[in-house]
Amino acid sequence: MTADASPTPAPTSRAFVSLIGAGPGDPGLLTLRGAEALRQADVVLFDYLANPELLRHCPQAETIYVGKKGFSEYISQEQINALLVDKAREGGGKRVARLKGGDVFVFGRGGEEAEACVQAGIPFEVVPGVTSAIAAPAYAGIPVTHREAARSFAVLTGNTKEGGAHYERLSGVDTLVLLMGVRNLDQIAADLIAAGRDPQTPAATVQWGTTARQRVATGTLATIAQAVREAGLEAPAVTVVGEVARLRDTLRWFDKVPGVGGPLAGRTVAVTRTRGGASALSDVLRARGADVLEVPLIRFADTGDEAALHARLRDLTGVTWLLLTSNQAVTALFTHLRRLGLDARHLGGVRLAAVGPSTARSLEEGGLRADFVPSTPGARHLGAELPAQAGDLVLHLTSQVAEDDLQRGLEARGVRYERAELYRTEPAQMTQHALARLRQADVVTLASGSAARHLAALAGTDFAVAAMGPQTADAARAAGFARVTVAQEAALEALADAAQAALAGTQEAATPPSI
Ligand code: SAH
Repeated sequence: MTADASPTPAPTSRAFVSLIGAGPGDPGLLTLRGAEALRQADVVLFDYLANPELLRHCPQAETIYVGKKGFSEYISQEQINALLVDKAREGGGKRVARLKGGDVFVFGRGGEEAEACVQAGIPFEVVPGVTSAIAAPAYAGIPVTHREAARSFAVLTGNTKEGGAHYERLSGVDTLVLLMGVRNLDQIAADLIAAGRDPQTPAATVQWGTTARQRVATGTLATIAQAVREAGLEAPAVTVVGEVARLRDTLRWFDKVPGVGGPLAGRTVAVTRTRGGASALSDVLRARGADVLEVPLIRFADTGDEAALHARLRDLTGVTWLLLTSNQAVTALFTHLRRLGLDARHLGGVRLAAVGPSTARSLEEGGLRADFVPSTPGARHLGAELPAQAGDLVLHLTSQVAEDDLQRGLEARGVRYERAELYRTEPAQMTQHALARLRQADVVTLASGSAARHLAALAGTDFAVAAMGPQTADAARAAGFARVTVAQEAALEALADAAQAALAGTQEAATPPSI
């Protein structure tokens, strides 16, 4: 055995790089390991083809767009490699997630980024992703292999300068999948025919595969370039050449899935969020075919006075109830118990109240059952219904912007109310890229007045917005939004209806999801 000579960073350093395949576009195609690595990341570097929606897995992280498209400055691969290493070394060492479209090592230059890590002595992992080479054809109803029709496939770059000779070497391969070649399709098709492929070989080009924007053109090797031009398809697109392309006629499925051809197909709806956790609204919108852009408006930060918080948490004598009014409060509570060297047993002597079922579920995930959850979620109901006696001491563990409703309701009943700052909520920072994408949204949903105010502060008011109810709509108008559509009731389906109604008034027709 040989000794490993590569320089290793100090054992205390957190420096680590995860090279993560983001999948081809559909956010559901990120791997579980990829999501986990994002959750652990301090910094995320993502590029053009990595769906920015995936950033919801890492609301805490610093996010840096390093795509070469849609960005005024050209970032060279060398600069990306250097940034990766610099960020991993920053401070006492950081966990960096490098999110790359599709798979890391399929024309992703992931190998070069891994080499940069090796050279810098930074430990790294590779999280393979679902490559567009297979997934885009699959979503178009084309299996890259098929019994009898295709026993082999090759993935090649359409950028190759080699042309003919290269294609001759592939003459025994049944299915060819071309990446990056949509502009050169005429030349590539001619070279393939010259290398001996039958001009009648079925072919299909899939643009923005696996997303609501997916569009497909079909033809033969002889006609595909023309079909692509007529349909106006551009990069990013994958072209499949082979008998399997014919199977689309029978296996076409994606645009038949409920929602994909739905009323919001081809439209981008931005969902603003002032809380962590998964957004149920996004699922509702996606089910109607929308491309959803999740926009976190706030971020959670550590409490400003950890010593005071820890002193309060260490000795809970005299406290009857602990009140938890958000999922984030539960997360932060466990974090601080851990930092104090304690665990859930420390809370054995107090009763726990959650503001609603979602917060109660978070507690349950940590092995704690809420002793009380109000009949209707909300601070007001919690204050009115909490089964506390006059004179009892309740401790509300919350952020610096806690609702006064709860305090007022409890004090009116003679309950002693105390508040401790468990975490802070701060306005989110938006990268130029995120801002640019948000500006392209067709409509933005607002679930609360504070969402309206945060959005106005972060990105201005030049948006069509759909508001959850009359109060939110009033807050939106007060914040300066002029195009406001109000949901008929405070429900997610109604908010999605409002988003749809807001779009119905606009001129631009939806792009058909598939042709
Ligand atoms: N590592 C990526 C490929 C990067 S090269 C992967 O494994 O998928 C970039 C090329 O990938 C694009 O030019 C296009 O050919 C292809 N591509 C990436 N995402 C795509 C998508 N959603 N639909 C169609 N083609 C896509």
